Amino acid sequence: MKDKTIHILKEYFGYSDFRAGQERIIDEILCGHDVLGIMPTGAGKSLCFQVPALALEGTAIVISPLISLMKDQVDTLNEMGIKAAFINSSLNLQEYRNISIKAQNGEYKLLYIAPERLETEGFWELLSQMNISIIAIDEAHCISEWGHDFRPSYTKIADMIARLPRRPVVAALTATATIQVKHDIVRLLMLQKPYVLVTGFDRENLYFEVNKPTNKFDSLLKYIKKNVTNSGIVYCSTRKTVESVCEKLNEHGISATRYHAGLTDGERIANQEAFIFDKVQVIVATNAFGMGIDKSNTRYVIHYNMPKTMENYYQEAGRAGRDGEKADCMLFYRAGDIITNKLLIENSGSNVDKTNEYKKLQEMVDYCNTDSCLRKYILNYFGEDDSPNACDNCGNCIGNIERTDITTEAQKVLSCIKRTGERFGSGIITDVLKGSYSEKLRALGFDKLTTFGLMKDYSKETVKEIIAYLIAESFIDIKGDKYPILVLNAKAYSLLKGDSELYIKRIITKEKPKAKKSEHKISNDLFERLRVLRKVIADEQKVPPFIIFSDTTLKDMCSKLPVTGDAMLTVTGVGTFKLEKYGDRFMEVINYHISSNRVTL
Ligand code: ADP
Ligand code: MG
Ligand code: ZN
Repeated sequence: MKDKTIHILKEYFGYSDFRAGQERIIDEILCGHDVLGIMPTGAGKSLCFQVPALALEGTAIVISPLISLMKDQVDTLNEMGIKAAFINSSLNLQEYRNISIKAQNGEYKLLYIAPERLETEGFWELLSQMNISIIAIDEAHCISEWGHDFRPSYTKIADMIARLPRRPVVAALTATATIQVKHDIVRLLMLQKPYVLVTGFDRENLYFEVNKPTNKFDSLLKYIKKNVTNSGIVYCSTRKTVESVCEKLNEHGISATRYHAGLTDGERIANQEAFIFDKVQVIVATNAFGMGIDKSNTRYVIHYNMPKTMENYYQEAGRAGRDGEKADCMLFYRAGDIITNKLLIENSGSNVDKTNEYKKLQEMVDYCNTDSCLRKYILNYFGEDDSPNACDNCGNCIGNIERTDITTEAQKVLSCIKRTGERFGSGIITDVLKGSYSEKLRALGFDKLTTFGLMKDYSKETVKEIIAYLIAESFIDIKGDKYPILVLNAKAYSLLKGDSELYIKRIITKEKPKAKKSEHKISNDLFERLRVLRKVIADEQKVPPFIIFSDTTLKDMCSKLPVTGDAMLTVTGVGTFKLEKYGDRFMEVINYHISSNRVTL
């Protein structure tokens, strides 16, 4: 059996080894056991049901929540010479009929279906006439109301399975599973004594960094310019920020597009496609973007604002580097982001568990402020307590932390709030501290206060930043429903009395360590040429470039420089079908590269 699965892996997918967990899951399925696989994004969950689908007689039914996901996976399989199709609401009646007939005739190894289909009678009939090898439920957490993507139709799956003439093996896969979600999956899918596999949450190839730029946009632009040929996502917390960041990037000649819930469906789809098809390099988006995006060559995810929770952060950042190649996850943090989030929580409805939301927000803020390993923080957060203390692949492990004592400045701010009667927001407080002569301040008599002009030597931004930091660190509470009023709390009084000190931490990032020696030095020229070819072919085939070959595959070509079919087959991600289809064209570019380099030698 092992030989068979390894052969399938090599022949179709062009990979020589299984990744952690894959082999075990596949074996269990082939032995007829139900499975529940919990593996992080990018771990390779699809292969866990695709390989058994190829090894077994009949058709595998794959239930998947999103049209875009299904389409990508089916395109990927077809590109590898595997017969697969999907049935969802994007098909017209004629297409649906054609696919149904072929499905009945057993022409597909895999048939992807949207869960909503299970609610139509006609579809039951089709399923009961098919020879089903396995049923795979992708993104299985959608079955649970505890999860973040609940889909009612998922609860129909168990019914469907029960109604089949013969019960196939059921395989459920997900990246997110808290205890509650896990129980729901097993219970609601009625898995039978499932083999449960949980691999670690770590994504070794991702580099994490928290950045506290003085000017966010400048830092963003600098980063993107340095990585201009790479695909990346920039997450912003509001539509307005998305609009302005995207516009400014465009003004600076960056090929960027935007995505948020305020756009028309048409524009959202078009912009998403432009990104997936590598027509633009950057997508600036709210968190509405990303669910169901399997684009494997996203090289960076930058959070322009701090998200609400660590769960959100890790899910969004995790969209980088699905191909296993190095990718960056940067969070741009300013204490001001916390105020936005606190206000959102304050103004959220009364049926929201605010205490819990504040707790989650604080855990997010702690991530931004920790000076220990960021990866360890993340893994601890998700319940892995045994991770090493340093990872050498995060901003904190490789950077220097600069601590600035701001106790005195903080005391000035706090006493100003007190002297003005704890009745004002950060605007007035800043004006008083800066000593701005305005009608309003004079009318209030604030120009007579001892704190008036106490911080005139600081820039307005700095004063605001310190106030924001004090709010973030819970020295100042926010009250008032019309506009935020700053008030002191016990922590503030202790700081005022000089019982505690306050530091602002900034990380000064050193150059990232160069790739290890053992990694082949590859030619950027060649990589770029191969990318261009990949884009040309992708346009011809009307599929996203990463479906033709992943970045990993192109890199492997650059280091192995294959010029024969056999050599090409040793490249990761090249199976026999793709070799036949595209091998010559890629070898032509490689040959050209070799000979032109010889000439210049
Ligand atoms: P997940 O669904 O777990 O997020 P995918 O199934 O989309 O992950 O796989 C992520 C990427 O990893 C894909 O590009 C896939 O081809 C690649 N991959 C999966 N298994 C292997 C393997 N054994 N060797 C090399 N690459 C793999
Ligand atoms: Mg997946
Ligand atoms: Zn680290």
